[in-house]
Amino acid sequence: MWLMAILFVSALRFVDAVQWRNSPKKDGRKSIIRFVCGTYATAGLWCLYTLVVMPNASLIELACIIITMSGMAGGGTTVLSAHARTSILYPVILLAPGSTWLLLSGEKHQQLLGLLGMMFFIAMIVAAKKTANFTSFAIKLKNENALLVAQMEQKVEQRTRKIYELSNLDPLSELYNRTAFLKHLDQYMKETPHKPLAVLFIDLDKFKEINDSLGHDTGDILLQQTAQRLRESCHNQQILCRWGGDEFLIALDCLNKEAAISFATTLIANISQPYQIHGNQCVIGATIGIAMFPEHASTAEQLIQLADTAMYHQKNSQPSQVEVFSQALNEELKREKQLKDGLETAIEKQQFSLVYQPIISTESSEVTCCEALLRWKLDGDNISPTEFIPLAEQYGHITKLGAWVLQQACLEATKWPQNIAIAVNVSILQLQDPHFITVLDDALDKSKLSPHRLHIEITESVFSSDQATLIQRITAMQERGIKVSIDDFGTEYSSLSVIQNLGVNLIKIDRSFIQQIDDNGYAIIQAVVQIAVALGYKVVAEGVEYQAQADKLTAMNVDYLQGYLYAKPMESAPLAAYLATY
Ligand code: C2E
Ligand code: CA
Ligand code: CA
Repeated sequence: MWLMAILFVSALRFVDAVQWRNSPKKDGRKSIIRFVCGTYATAGLWCLYTLVVMPNASLIELACIIITMSGMAGGGTTVLSAHARTSILYPVILLAPGSTWLLLSGEKHQQLLGLLGMMFFIAMIVAAKKTANFTSFAIKLKNENALLVAQMEQKVEQRTRKIYELSNLDPLSELYNRTAFLKHLDQYMKETPHKPLAVLFIDLDKFKEINDSLGHDTGDILLQQTAQRLRESCHNQQILCRWGGDEFLIALDCLNKEAAISFATTLIANISQPYQIHGNQCVIGATIGIAMFPEHASTAEQLIQLADTAMYHQKNSQPSQVEVFSQALNEELKREKQLKDGLETAIEKQQFSLVYQPIISTESSEVTCCEALLRWKLDGDNISPTEFIPLAEQYGHITKLGAWVLQQACLEATKWPQNIAIAVNVSILQLQDPHFITVLDDALDKSKLSPHRLHIEITESVFSSDQATLIQRITAMQERGIKVSIDDFGTEYSSLSVIQNLGVNLIKIDRSFIQQIDDNGYAIIQAVVQIAVALGYKVVAEGVEYQAQADKLTAMNVDYLQGYLYAKPMESAPLAAYLATY
């Protein structure tokens, strides 16, 4: 019966162990209870065995039983050490009842065996306690490590996300940064090489003014709000980035330029709506340049560069509008670059020269003045001053070039009869230069030309500049006896009261009015002459090509005439011949 019982318990425990091993989800607590119950049942059965067998056993048999039980108890302390209570109780159940029986048996040898058994299980209890402590400590450590590893994994993931954000997102706007945009655009172009795409280069207008006047904090918020508006205007599949500063890029899948322009126009209208920041209302604009894939370029970098070029060009001509890149624009920019580079060394290479165009008095029919006009010969090509003067202004060459013109013109005029003056065109930037008057004095000094024979022509556009400086310069010139003319009069907005304040000496009516003298030009010329008479200016008509024009202008009391009818601009030698025979 005992054998049946121990086999039954062993079989149950075996099945339980196999099941536990195979079940994917280990139900910790319940398995432990089952295992512990199995252990107590086994221990109990062995205890029963000792108590039943011992009374009839020989001394050798008793010794064998105690040794066997001790062996099992010893093994148990190690195997069961993960469960402290069981690892202590197991040797107690196995040895205590048997040893106690032997101690109480009254037989000397049996008592000795009982004592040994007792001593052994006491030693086992101590050992079991220590082993159990050690094992539970090891298990705890193992679990803590697992927790630590899990926490570390979480940290690593957080870090990875942070690194992704740092390397892909612009921290201020939370849009893609340059690297991410290029990466995504490249990928998109590779995946759909036949799908047309527009790259929009968006540059905010007047952002710098807001940054300067309201501070960088406001500027930052403005950029964030702009980014948000852009985000709202874009669909998911469009790639959006902050390229840097106040520049944004959008890659738009769209079929044609018209669709891109329409999208960009809406975007500008959107960006131009007022922003409320810290109680201030801010208004900015945006200029957008567009380049199309695959029409204009095949790589992301090229597309961006061309869109930037279109934007830059548009910004310089008419900001807050859209411009699509084109081959014509490319040619124009190439030409501009060529001229810009050429200008750097043009004076040193002596590529500049002056030509002179006579101005004739309607009263005496004599040449009273000659206008100096600048010529530039670059690699055999004559470049028009209307093309290179704005570039010289833009790239900072005009002051040096203007000084050279003044020197040359004054020197040339000293060769002419004393009654003929020289008119020199001066750009507004030249006039604003603090050294302008010194440069002027220098030219007069070196040439020994009488200041009365020098006329300075300034265009109407000077009116939009700082009036105080302008009046200072004009007064300084007039104090020296130099005469000042307003050139191209009528082509730009100018206020007559400002002209009066400035107190100039001559007004040159623009060529376009002379060309239209038979139409609207007549009334305008007449009005100008009337005002000039009233305010005490002399009037010059430029671009006179026909005798009929000259006759009409003379009849209208215009003081001086200039144009192809009398002479085209001439070089020094032909001019000398012209003046000798006139
Ligand atoms: P501007 O001062 O109005 O010069 C008159 C322009 O009209 C000259 O062109 C001259 O050649 C042209 N012209 C004169 N008579 C006639 C005519 O009867 N018919 C036609 N169709 N044209 C006539 P140019 O020499 O090409 O100069 C163009 C502009 O370049 C000048 O306009 C002036 O604004 C600027 N410029 C020329 N030289 C200088 C210079 O040394 N310094 C500065 N700052 N600007 C200059
Ligand atoms: Ca002029
Ligand atoms: Ca003119």
